[in-house]
Order: sequence, then structure tokens, then C-alpha cells
Amino acid sequence: MSTIQKLENDPRVVVRRSGLPDPDGRCVVYWMRRSIRAEENPSLDIAIQAANAMGKPLVVFFALVPVANANLRHYTFLIEALAETSVELRKRNAGFVLRRVPDHSVTGFCSEVGAALLVTDENPLRGPEHRLQTVVRQLRIPIWSVDSDVVVPSKLIPGKQYAARIIRPKLMKLRDEFLRPSRSIAARLPWKQNLKSLLCNLSVMGGMKVDHSVQSASTIRGGTREAKRLLREFVNKKLAGYPERRNHPEDDGTSRLSPYLHFGNISPVTIASEVLKADAPKDAKEAFLDQLITWRELAINFVRYNELYDSIECAEPWAARTLAKHAKDPRPVLYTEKQLENAETYDPLWNAAQIQMVEQGWMHNYMRMYWGKKILEWTRSPAEAFQIAVRLNDKYELDGRDPNGYAGIAWAIAGKLDRPWFERPIFGQIRYMSGKSTGKKFDSKQYIEQHSKQ
Ligand SMILES: Cc1cc2nc3c(=O)[nH]c(=O)nc-3n(C[C@H](O)[C@H](O)[C@H](O)COP(=O)(O)OP(=O)(O)OC[C@H]3O[C@@H](n4cnc5c(N)ncnc54)[C@H](O)[C@@H]3O)c2cc1C
Repeated sequence: MSTIQKLENDPRVVVRRSGLPDPDGRCVVYWMRRSIRAEENPSLDIAIQAANAMGKPLVVFFALVPVANANLRHYTFLIEALAETSVELRKRNAGFVLRRVPDHSVTGFCSEVGAALLVTDENPLRGPEHRLQTVVRQLRIPIWSVDSDVVVPSKLIPGKQYAARIIRPKLMKLRDEFLRPSRSIAARLPWKQNLKSLLCNLSVMGGMKVDHSVQSASTIRGGTREAKRLLREFVNKKLAGYPERRNHPEDDGTSRLSPYLHFGNISPVTIASEVLKADAPKDAKEAFLDQLITWRELAINFVRYNELYDSIECAEPWAARTLAKHAKDPRPVLYTEKQLENAETYDPLWNAAQIQMVEQGWMHNYMRMYWGKKILEWTRSPAEAFQIAVRLNDKYELDGRDPNGYAGIAWAIAGKLDRPWFERPIFGQIRYMSGKSTGKKFDSKQYIEQHSKQ
């Protein structure tokens, strides 16, 4: 079997357009979209191996395009990560080209450089998947997408997985096989062309309509280096206490790696491998890996198999029935989206969570659950609650527009990946969280003090 055939059969590869690479092509193009890193990146590794097998150089292409709900906060993080990645790619002998609208077409880029093969990152979200399908229709060269941001390649667990307990044993069975370090080889033929490329600094936003109303997060910097620093800190100082501390929003007891996972600055394989090697109790390691692998990969499965993942329409029949039954229940307190956005509710705990998200670009998991549930209680309908939650989450969280966000909101508001609970007003059988009991489970006074309006 040839190297190209072997690569096509790699469990992480999905052949989007089959065929042999164009023998007259001048290079391999890696269209980087989700995995913004130069190490432990299977898309890059596979593109390099293919380029080496064909005796051609490799160029990495990144296109800056406007994205719904993305703003200065997200673009700043992205550009910081791209600046670092573009430098690191040189060590792998790969070129890097950054373009923005209206020069963002990967199809145009492939003809400009004479691509023999196009490799890209798998991304289950609707927008990126549609963009890839358009490119597949336009190009005449083979196209592979590589599932680089999961531990277990999604195609090995096909079909809708309805709950963590269903996907967990399947992931556990395959997990170890995919926790191998990647082959960090360099392209044999270095990229030598000097193509038009933008500089990776904040000035690239100049030509784009970027919403500047949300400031960049001053304490969270994009890039693999920072992701690895946070990982080291987590493994050395927080992992052993994770099972207990992860439920304390007033305490900084979690990894805070979600923005880095969202932008692909670090691989979940790197994180899981470091955690498994750590000197920490087994139950702490497994508690963390259950979030990183089971819940995260369940969320990815959720968006892949639910076209309507960002609306109430994704609810299971039992949840749709129970929410419909309670649609006319009186809602004693109603807030507008603006009031919610401005953290103007009667509930200081909820307001503190909203402020944490608006100011820092990140909210603690425990508070995210409570935050979502209350939006259901305080708005006119579950459909409206879902839309508001998605808009606020995607606008302010650095890790927003992620499968985890849509799954988390679907869990909180539509009972997704959950089961029916006791019947109660407005929520029906959707799991409820009361302010009183939530506030007693941790030092909520301290959390409120930490996140009050400046
Ligand atoms: C309403 C709601 C909205 C959410 N929005 C987002 C979002 O926009 N983006 C996002 O990445 N996560 C979201 N989550 C999931 C979770 O809250 C965050 O991933 C987590 O708080 C990130 O913090 P951390 O990196 O310190 O997590 P850690 O506890 O250190 O966990 C490590 C990693 O495991 C994964 N993980 C942890 N908890 C979950 C979970 N409940 N579901 C899926 N994966 C998980 C994340 O990738 C996380 O980075 C949301 C949850 C809810 C209930």
C-alpha cells in the first residue's frame, strides 16, 4: 500500500474528495481552521507526511473571515495564537499564508499555488462544515479532513449518543489507542515561495468589520505556549484536588483550558497524556478525563448529529412535551435580553456569573449551569431562552461558538443529554437548580464579591 493510501486509511482522516493527488501539483495545502497549533496536530502531521511522500513542499493557509457573534475579544486571542503558530511552523519547514476577506478563498489559493492535495481540520459545526462542502464541490483535487481535536476520532463512534453513560464505555474502550504522541516530523522540502500574506498582528482586523464593543480579555492570552503553561500549573497544583474544587466557583480549581481547546491551541491528547502521567490520585485523573473526553466528545457528537443544535428544536420528544405543557405557566419574573446582558436581575449570584463572563471572557462550569437554568425561568419561552443564552454565551465567552457551549445550553434549557426530573412550574421535567441550594454548595458570598460591577 502506498503512503498516500495508508494516510487515507488513518482513523482520523475523512476522505472528502477521493482520487490521487495531482502529479503536476506543486505543493500540498493545509487549510488550517480549527487546530491552530504547530505541535501535536494530526492535520499538520498528515499533510507533512503526504507532502514528503510526493516530494513536494507544504504551505499552511489561514483565512480570516467574519463570524457571527465573534468580536475583538475573539479575534485578539485568535491572532495571538496565529502569530505564535506561524513562527513555530517554520521549524517544520512549512510555509504560512494569512489572508482575510475578500482574499479568503481557499479554492483561489489552491489554484494560485498549484495544490496537489488539500488537507483541513474536521469541524462539526454547521458553518465550517458547509464551507468545506462548498470547497469540495469547487475543487478537482483530493480533499481530506482530519479529526485532530478529539481523543477518539468521531467516525469510530457513529450515530447519536444520547447520554454520557452511553458514549463513555465506547470512548474508554478506544481511548488508550489514541493517546499516543504524534510524529512531529518536518517537511523534507522547505517552502520557499514568497506569497502575499498578512502580518499576524492586530492590524489585520483593519480591513474587517470587527465588533469592538467587547474588549479583549486582559488576563487570557492565546497560543500553545500559554496553554501548556496552564496545563503544567493545573497538573502540578490543581489536579489532585479537582474532584472537590471543580465545584467551587469562588476557587480557581479547574484547568481554564477551554478557550485553548476551542481555538485548537492545544490537543486534548496532549492534555490527557500529561494528566495520566501526573503524580495524582487515580480518581482525580479520571474525574478530569471524564470532562475532557466523555463530556467534550459527547458535545461534539451532539452537534454532529443534531442539525438544530443551537435552538430549542434540538430537544428530545419528552423534553419538548414537558416544556410545551408548561408554556403558559405564569413567569413571576421576566427580564429582557438587555437586562440580562447588563446583569440587572434581582439575583446577585446570577449577576456575578454574568459579570465574570462579560469581564473575563470565561465563566466557571458550575455557574454556567445555573446561569442557563435561570434564563429559562426568566424569559417568555424556552425558544427565547435558548436564543438569548446562545447569543450571550457566544458573544462573551472566549470559548463560545463551541460544541460544548451548544450542548451545555441544550442541557440546561432543553434537558438534552439528561433525563426527566420531578415536575415543577415552567421547567416541567427539565432539571431545576434553585438559587438557594446552589448558593449553599460553595462560598457564594465570596464569588459575588469577586465579580461585582467595577
Ligand atoms: C450553559 C453552559 C454553557 C457552556 N458553554 C461553553 C462554551 O461556550 N464553551 C466551552 O468550551 N464549554 C462550555 N460549557 C462547558 C463547561 O462549562 C466548560 O467547558 C468549562 O467550564 C471550561 O472550564 P475549564 O476549561 O476550566 O474546565 P475543566 O473542568 O478544567 O475541564 C477540562 C475540559 O473538559 C471539557 N469540559 C469540562 N466541562 C465540560 C462540560 N460540562 N461539557 C463539555 N465539556 C466539558 C472542556 O473542554 C474543559 O476545558 C458550558 C456549559 C454550560 C452548562
